[in-house]
Amino acid sequence: MTNTTTHKTDVVIIGAGPVGLFAVFELGLVDLKCHLIDILPVVGGQCAELYPQKPIYDIPAFPSITGQELTDNLMEQIKPFDPVFHLGQMAIGVEKIGTDENGVDIWQVKTDIGTVIECKCIVISAGGGSFVPKKPPIQGIEEYEGKSVFYSVRDMEKFRNKKIVVAGGGDSALDWANNLAPISKSLTLVHRRDDFRGHPASVNEMRDKVSKDEMSLEIAQIKGLNGKNGNLESILLKHKEKGEYEIPCDMLLPFYGLTMTLGPVKDFGCELHKDTLIKVDTEKFETSIPQIFSIGDINYYSGKLKLILSGFHESALMAQKAFSYCNPDKKLLFQYTTSSSSLQKKLNVK
Ligand code: FAD
Repeated sequence: MTNTTTHKTDVVIIGAGPVGLFAVFELGLVDLKCHLIDILPVVGGQCAELYPQKPIYDIPAFPSITGQELTDNLMEQIKPFDPVFHLGQMAIGVEKIGTDENGVDIWQVKTDIGTVIECKCIVISAGGGSFVPKKPPIQGIEEYEGKSVFYSVRDMEKFRNKKIVVAGGGDSALDWANNLAPISKSLTLVHRRDDFRGHPASVNEMRDKVSKDEMSLEIAQIKGLNGKNGNLESILLKHKEKGEYEIPCDMLLPFYGLTMTLGPVKDFGCELHKDTLIKVDTEKFETSIPQIFSIGDINYYSGKLKLILSGFHESALMAQKAFSYCNPDKKLLFQYTTSSSSLQKKLNVK
């Protein structure tokens, strides 16, 4: 599919994860219009793709909110600013195409299906870059993918009353084993050694459930899959001493981590940290290229924490500087949403 339309806007945001979405809000408050590009067909980044139904406990003022609820709330919050989304497309290049009458550079962002967007500022909020699940090296697994083998959980109901096997030893495997066990017919966690990389609290919860027979633990490797027409019936395991044996399985969830690659963002010309992250300052979160900012998981500065709340803070400071590039002759007034009637007007609450 190709799309040859050229759009014009103030800011192009590359990556519609939680941080890219909140950037629309902060940029909207200073009257900047945004277009967002994301490879995924849905917004929400890791929250929507990797843990939509898991509760997050460290979003300020939300004691508990799932990844999907957070995404939905952000979409509601940015509605007044009418952002334009270009989903299912990868940003593949940025190019300076000139300068305006004030000497501010004009940039062009291109996607892999031919969308071209002209803008004054670019915000790279590409998270871990293009993230793809690491697949287990099991022959014929493709036949079952999307039917009975899944690399993420979009809808927990799909797994209700099923014989589930979760494979892996990290946080995702432990969290999903713990969360799905109560609604499953049976749940087995398979890991190749009795040593888990996940958070100690999740490991303890898993061991507690195993001791109460609420789930099973198999220390083994997955050797093969058995089933028909993409529907699993059992999986073949191999244990060092026990040898090979089968366990029943309707649904297999391998969580062997994600391969994160910066992808095309790596070649945009911004100075990188260890070849995987984009270096920014901590005053305005600008990269080594003026007018190109980077916020969220993809940026690097001393003391960086890859948390959603860090990305939200970065968005607010970035927006102040983006405003000055787009309005070199205007001074930005610092205002509170609680008391500024002009901000309330923009938010359609006045
Ligand atoms: P992302 O969410 O990674 O979104 C980036 C988006 O950019 C993606 O949608 C990607 O498709 C897109 N993209 C990348 N490259 C391109 C390109 N070239 N063109 C177009 N689009 C592109 N954080 C917390 O604060 N609290 C928690 O409790 C918490 N729990 C977590 C649990 C799990 C299992 C995981 C995996 C993460 C957790 N995190 C948590 C981390 C949190 O999800 C990230 O900090 C957050 O998603 C970062 O947001 P982001 O918008 O920077 O990037």
